[in-house]
Formats: sequence, C-alpha cells, structure tokens
Amino acid sequence: MRISRTRITAAVAATVTVAAAVTTVLAGTASAAQGCRIDYQPNEWTGGFTANVRVSPGDTALSSWTVTWSYPGGQRITGGWNATVSQSGTTVTARNAAWNGSVPAGGSTEFGVQGTSTSGAGAPTGFALNGVPCNGAPPPTTTPPPTTPPPTTPPTTPPPTTPPPTTPPPTTPPPTTPPPTTPPPAGCAGAVLCDGFENQTGSTPAGDWSVVNPDCSGTGRAAVDTATAHSGSRSLRIDGAQGYCNHVFVRSTKDLSAVGTVRYGRIWLRHTTALPTQHVTVMAMTDAADGNKDLRMGGQNGALQWNRASDDATLPEQSPSGVALSVPLPTGRWTCLEFMVDGNQGQLRTWLDGTAVTGLTADGVPTHDIDGQWYNRTWRPRLTDLKLGWESYGEGADTLWYDDVALGASRIGC
Ligand code: CA
Repeated sequence: MRISRTRITAAVAATVTVAAAVTTVLAGTASAAQGCRIDYQPNEWTGGFTANVRVSPGDTALSSWTVTWSYPGGQRITGGWNATVSQSGTTVTARNAAWNGSVPAGGSTEFGVQGTSTSGAGAPTGFALNGVPCNGAPPPTTTPPPTTPPPTTPPTTPPPTTPPPTTPPPTTPPPTTPPPTTPPPAGCAGAVLCDGFENQTGSTPAGDWSVVNPDCSGTGRAAVDTATAHSGSRSLRIDGAQGYCNHVFVRSTKDLSAVGTVRYGRIWLRHTTALPTQHVTVMAMTDAADGNKDLRMGGQNGALQWNRASDDATLPEQSPSGVALSVPLPTGRWTCLEFMVDGNQGQLRTWLDGTAVTGLTADGVPTHDIDGQWYNRTWRPRLTDLKLGWESYGEGADTLWYDDVALGASRIGC
C-alpha cells in the first residue's frame, strides 16, 4: 500500500491550525497539576503501534486537559480515540474529547493513539499535562509555559524520507483491542442495573426507584436534583438529618436477581459534610441469608466502613489501627465508590476512585483490625436489593448526591 504524499501534506497543514488553537487553550485555562502522571502503554508491531494513555491529574481536578509529549523520531500519529490528537514535528498534542474532559482529583481517564513507526524508534519523553511536566519531572523554572509556540511559517519538516514499504504488509497481527469508534457509554459494561436518573421526570424519585423509610419517617428527604449531576442533568439528592427517625432511602424497583451471588457495584457519590464520629449509613442492601437484615456501607470515626445490621460487626474493626486502614469520603466532589460482595466465598472488596481500600476488604482470612470481627461467624450474603440514602443513629446530618449507579456480575469501573 502506498501512502499518498498529498494526504500527509494536508495532515501537516491541519496540524498547524490545531497547534495554534491548543496554545490559546493553554493560555486561557491551564491549571497546575501537581503530582500528575501520564502512563503510556504501547503495543507495537513491525511498522506500527497503538498506545493506551492514562491521564492522572494527581491532587488537582480538571475540567479540560491537554497532554503533550515528544517522540525521539520515527513515530507518526495517524489517529486516536477518546481524544483529539495531532502531531507537529516530534511533538504530540492530545486534547480531551467532549465527554472526558472532567477528571476529579485522584481520578484518571484514558485515551489512545495509533501510528506508524520505523524500526528502532525510541520511547516517548517529556509528558506534560496542561503544560505542567508529569511523572516526577521538575516544574519549569521560567515563567513561560513549556509549550511550543505555533510556527509562523509552514513547517519545514519534510515528508518522511523512508519510502513507503514495497514489501508485503507486516505479518504481525494488529493489536487485539481495536479503538472504539463511538464514545464510551456512561460506563455500565453490561450491568443489570445502570441508571443516571436521567429518565426521572418529577422531583420525587419514581419508576425504577421508590422512596422508602424502613424504620420511621422524619425530616430526611429524597429528591431528583436537576442542579447537580455527575453526568447528564439529573441526580438523586438525599438530605439526611441526624437522629434515628430521619432515615430515608431510595430503593431500586428493578429485578436484581440476574446480578447473581457475586455482586459488583459502582456508585458516583458526592456529599457536603465529613463523615462523623458516630455511625452513619449511605447505602444499604438487604441480605436474604442474614434474616433480611441490611449490609450497610457508611462511616464511623470519620472513615468509611461496612456494617452488618444483624450483629453490628464492622469492617474494618473500629480500633485506631483499623480505622486508619480505611479512608474518609471526600466532600465537595464526585467520588467513585466500587464494591464487590461475593456470596459464594463470603468476601468483600471496596475501591474508592479506582484504588482498593485495605480496611474495607474481607478476604476470607480473619485479620485483626480489619476483618477479624467480620468473620466471627460464617458469612455468605445473598443480597436482594439496593437502597441509596441516609441513616444516622445519633449525630450526623449530610446532603448527598448519587449518580451513574450500576450493579452487575463483573466489575464495572468508574
Ligand atoms: Ca445523571
């Protein structure tokens, strides 16, 4: 196959325009990204490559991002996915797509590139996020951002000197993961329940959800919120009050039996007030194998915990060492809470923003400070429902939002 020279020339010309636009973006909205990481995972074969690139902003949330790096030579970008990618000389610029510009502090997003390469092409260097060097590189010592100014004349880079190959195409198969051609969905990976509350039409949750007050009703309130959302324009809002009788939950009305005995969940959660010292709950699931008592996710001593309503066992144990192995639930931003409850093995896993939490892990072997108390008896949960909402048993009032909720038989991801 011969590569058309006119196509390459056109691509270079287009790159000039893109580079100028990128410089404008950097000047207008570049934000510090201390501790950022760019992880570049190539998949190479003779004459070509793809690479998956993970963008982790560190302690700064992003509303948009531009990732840049340099190839030592020999690589030429031909396309990408989940980003707008261009190359000028050896410098590659990737800007977020419409749907993945927002990345929370501590979170990450991924995109990919594909291209051609000559033999012996080296690894890319100089990764930067919004103009800030990543992967531990020192920040720039001078004030001008380390961006390449747009060329004032057409680039002098000649077309590739390597003639198009006249030999048969490479025998190495292309990468097994083809780039997706459409934007990823809200990210439910075939889950049985997948709901961003976008089909809610009123101010009170209805349809696939119903408001329930399992014990008694008070001032706790549940509503569909159109002012705050993780995606789309709606979320579930819970105004939870302190005191036992102010419990309020929104319960899924869907048949969840297809999830099976190994249940994975993913919930985007946002709240306003740090978890209190006393016990509170933000999510509950009925356990048919435990007298229909709830398995509860919430907090105590300022950190997240699981709690078994039948015997009040906690995960982790509420010793200082145990609590230290859990994590607080960050306030004022969306957090991705994932969990796995394995009813066959009697195990439990929890991830916050993609990171496994040691103190919220029941791995089948009792460990002091973690799951010692959890395994004070045989535990083989059979969860039958999902309730999102608030229980306080004394102190603790909070406003919470839930969005992009999913339950399935395999891990869904954030
Ligand atoms: Ca939504």
